[in-house]
Amino acid sequence: MTAEPGEVHHEAERRLRDQGLIYTGGRRETVELLSGLARLTTMPELIELRPKLTQSSMYRNMTDLEAAGIVQKVIGTDDRTRYELAEALIGHHHHSICVHCGKVDDFVVPPATEHTLESALSDALASAGFRPTGHRLDVVGVCAACD
Ligand SMILES: [Zn+2]
Ligand SMILES: [Zn+2]
Repeated sequence: MTAEPGEVHHEAERRLRDQGLIYTGGRRETVELLSGLARLTTMPELIELRPKLTQSSMYRNMTDLEAAGIVQKVIGTDDRTRYELAEALIGHHHHSICVHCGKVDDFVVPPATEHTLESALSDALASAGFRPTGHRLDVVGVCAACD
């Protein structure tokens, strides 16, 4: 997923300020790192990309960014936690998760399909009196490299 970088930083700063937090250099760098990556990334992978950021400060920044709704965790099919920028910053999307290697990728479906999906979910939940306001849909399967 891509988003205009200036827009992402602006939104991140606004959300942190709402939490009484400052957009420090370390937090900015973490957001920049995540927004520049084509796929979802684990903490060890992030640290490998930015060796000068210590692991403890990276974890602390990630926790704050998550609490402020800037970053979200994605649970895959393995026990590794992956991170990405929240949908509020990069837009609505879905994940494909490989059951073999654990690779997680973003994908989008056309607006018409999103609409069909929303109505189907609404219908399915109507009898329970549940009113959907959104959805998270991850698709599990086998990626091109593992197939
Ligand atoms: Zn795979
Ligand atoms: Zn969707």
